[in-house]
Amino acid sequence: MAGETLDRPRHRLGPTSPGDGTARGGYGRAIFAMDGYTCVYCGLLMLKDFDSYLQLSVDHIVPRSMKGYDATLIEDRANKVTCCRACNEFGNRYRPNLPAPTNEEEFWDVRDHVFRERRALILKRRERELERYERIRRFARLPGDIDIADEPPSDSE
Ligand SMILES: [Zn+2]
Repeated sequence: MAGETLDRPRHRLGPTSPGDGTARGGYGRAIFAMDGYTCVYCGLLMLKDFDSYLQLSVDHIVPRSMKGYDATLIEDRANKVTCCRACNEFGNRYRPNLPAPTNEEEFWDVRDHVFRERRALILKRRERELERYERIRRFARLPGDIDIADEPPSDSE
């Protein structure tokens, strides 16, 4: 599991370069390098194989939709983390109910607070999804699941 505290300084790191406009081909690359291509919420290492690599996404800790916030702080690398697509989805609807910070110091307080809250929420939803998965997996038949009785007769010579 990834660390409980956010591995980001409380100062600006500068904006991400847009590159080709995608996370993997551009704005995510500096973020992924900072986090070792690992989801900061669930700890999934996304360079393990190609399917994992396709899960790479960037998460804004303080969401872009926050009204009255300094957009350059929201878009700063210090407000972005590496996130797998599943955790990104689990955290999507989260909106902090906080007044807009009046200075940069307050922004970092908000960011750190939001990270802790969001992380707890994501891990809770992930846990619930795991229970659902285990229920489904117990009863679902997969293409590889063949009952002995269903096995086709073996080819005779
Ligand atoms: Zn994750």
